[in-house]
Amino acid sequence: MYKRLKVAILVLIFIVIIIPILLLKFSSDDEISKDNNKKISSVDKNDIAENKDIHDAKEIEKPNNDVQEKPDIKGNSSMSNQVINVETIDDYKVIVNKKHPLDRNYRPGENPVAKKALLKLIGDMQRLGYPISNSYSGFRTYQRQSELYNRYVREDGKAKADTYSARPGYSEHQTGLTFDIKDRRGRLLGNHGINNSAANWLAQNAHRYGFVVRYQRSKEHITGYKAEPWHIRFIGNDAVKVYERGQCLEEFYGVEGGDYIK
Ligand SMILES: [Zn+2]
Repeated sequence: MYKRLKVAILVLIFIVIIIPILLLKFSSDDEISKDNNKKISSVDKNDIAENKDIHDAKEIEKPNNDVQEKPDIKGNSSMSNQVINVETIDDYKVIVNKKHPLDRNYRPGENPVAKKALLKLIGDMQRLGYPISNSYSGFRTYQRQSELYNRYVREDGKAKADTYSARPGYSEHQTGLTFDIKDRRGRLLGNHGINNSAANWLAQNAHRYGFVVRYQRSKEHITGYKAEPWHIRFIGNDAVKVYERGQCLEEFYGVEGGDYIK
């Protein structure tokens, strides 16, 4: 009888004390694991947020990302019969080279902001005593470039013409953001060593007016063109960074350059 009572008490103790303790333990384990899940997922979110911040920061630091994300700007060849208005493109980042032609109907004319900067630059050079002409070679239509290129091909053959003249659609002059600087006798600045000191000044100061000297000797394999000390391209505020980094536009904006696709 006493034994039975003892067993009954033990069973009762088990039911009243041990089971609740076990239940409590399981449920708290559950809480812990939920909590861990919460922590893990919040870590994930933090990682994502951090990556996003890094990504955003990169975008701010490297304007080339902007261009890469806008294939319309550089992938002009796919935009047949579609006219691009450069004035609507942020900071004048349109890239034209032997991989990225412009549409034949793209005819923005001379960009007024770029022209204003050009006139300031020419005026300053003249005040410094350089024999710079007020006349320059600026905006060129696709049709005009076509006439020029075909003439050079007739005179020099295609292979040679390709080394110094752009094929129609491939000329940066079609952007309305590009200018060839000439001396008072109408000669291209720095061509065959003419007016070298003025050309040097241009190379070292064009960025202060928002321009880059587009084709430089050390970048010929990337730009696809021989050095042209007279040919400047307006890009606005980025010009200072391009100059300081010693890059060409293809490098700075992360755009493919080089020769024509054969
Ligand atoms: Zn030019």
